[in-house]
Amino acid sequence: MNTTGSVATTTLPPLQAIKANWIKHLLGQPALLQELVDAYHSPINIHAPLQLTKNVQEYQAVFREHQLDHQIFFARKANRSVGLVREAARMDYGVDTASYRELEQCLAVGVSPNRLVLTAAIKNRSLLHLAIEHGVPIMLDNEDEVLLTLQLAAELNKKARIGLRVSNFPYHGEQLYSRFGVDIKDAYDFLKTYCCSDQGQQWLAFEGLHFHLNGYDPQQRGAALHQCLALAATLRKINLSTQYIDMGGGLLMNYLEHQQQWQAFDKALREAVQGQRAPITFNNSGLGYEMVDGELKGSMKVYPYYNKLARGAFLEEILAYRNEEGITAAQLTREAGISLRIEPGRSVLDQVGVTVARVAFRKKDSRGDYLVGLEMNMTQMYSSSADFLLDPEVIYQDPRPEGEGVEVYFTGAYCLERDILLKRKIHLPKLPALGDLVMFFNTAGYMMHFFESEAHLFPLANNLMLKKEGLVWEFDDFQLDEQ
Ligand SMILES: *Cc1c(COP(=O)(O)O)cnc(C)c1O
Repeated sequence: MNTTGSVATTTLPPLQAIKANWIKHLLGQPALLQELVDAYHSPINIHAPLQLTKNVQEYQAVFREHQLDHQIFFARKANRSVGLVREAARMDYGVDTASYRELEQCLAVGVSPNRLVLTAAIKNRSLLHLAIEHGVPIMLDNEDEVLLTLQLAAELNKKARIGLRVSNFPYHGEQLYSRFGVDIKDAYDFLKTYCCSDQGQQWLAFEGLHFHLNGYDPQQRGAALHQCLALAATLRKINLSTQYIDMGGGLLMNYLEHQQQWQAFDKALREAVQGQRAPITFNNSGLGYEMVDGELKGSMKVYPYYNKLARGAFLEEILAYRNEEGITAAQLTREAGISLRIEPGRSVLDQVGVTVARVAFRKKDSRGDYLVGLEMNMTQMYSSSADFLLDPEVIYQDPRPEGEGVEVYFTGAYCLERDILLKRKIHLPKLPALGDLVMFFNTAGYMMHFFESEAHLFPLANNLMLKKEGLVWEFDDFQLDEQ
């Protein structure tokens, strides 16, 4: 095969991924990676649970600095591996569960009910039964759930620990609409009705308030926290004591090394969509940009892969939010003696995992573009946003350089025209050979599991846990995650 035919004519804008040290060291051990893919099949997901703990500790340090009582709950819906739950149990931080099996498995692994929270969008009889039986706090969403909880608590003869999910916070003259939770303006009456009745006093133990906002705005979260603090103050008058306010997840993380690359990519994409340069995405997808009557419209509909305000700094911003009297959320919370909780999923999975797949074929399509087929499918690395904007890396069996490089699209195993693993065209130092490996970075949060499916009867990818710190590993240092 002619491997120099598609020499880059225009330079593609790179988007260099941030890589934790363990990932850099793993990249330097190609034989080991080959051995792992041979044994566990392509693709594999490799996790470093210790990194999860590091991220949790960053949040804990921020709360501690502000002298705030706190608890962190890892939102496990963002990654299905039980090895990460074991790490949470080992290090004694919390887990946010969103389904029966998630909760059941956490209990089986030995996570204390005090370190669990149930936030599932649908809580049926068996799920509520399990939570009440084990004394796991339930974040209630609506009247039907409250009534079912009351009924089951009475049946089990056990008080249900509950919090109330509140939503629709007024913010700068608008409402932060959510389909979840009880409207903040109705929450007082709701709690009074259900918790202060004879039945409520007998079977419901009210513990706290909960919200989880769509999007990634720290100011909105700060404003919501202030409104919950005000609600907690009024609830005290009817003897409902708010022990905690749970601010949910959606704390930003940063995937990219350089802000300048992020801006350059955005510019190049706009130019490509306007036909001012060769496409940089498959079918010249605008990832949200489009031409309407000859004019560029829209914006990139992707996760903000680059942002300065990530993890701990994002939390700082929420806590620093001031009410009209100029008092910060941190100070008010401290004075109220209320504990703060968060349920980060994506951001605590930052640098926790990578996905590695094997090259199955290379070909040139009728447009002259190189397609590199990988032994994996689109659901095994799937972003809910328009694309996953990070450069992967090829682990060449023969690393000798050759020419100026090639531009390729990576394609997957589903029989869909749209099974293109990344919509971006990727510049590589040279065309991969059969059997070479491709590593996709920072995939642990949502990318590897959330949308994974078994169409064509392809098995789900194996998940490996790297439990050992260090720089050099052996095959046996990677343990298969049992389900
Ligand atoms: C999805 C979700 C989370 C986690 O959100 P991230 O964006 O992954 O941090 C936490 N809490 C609730 C209720 C959720 O629905």
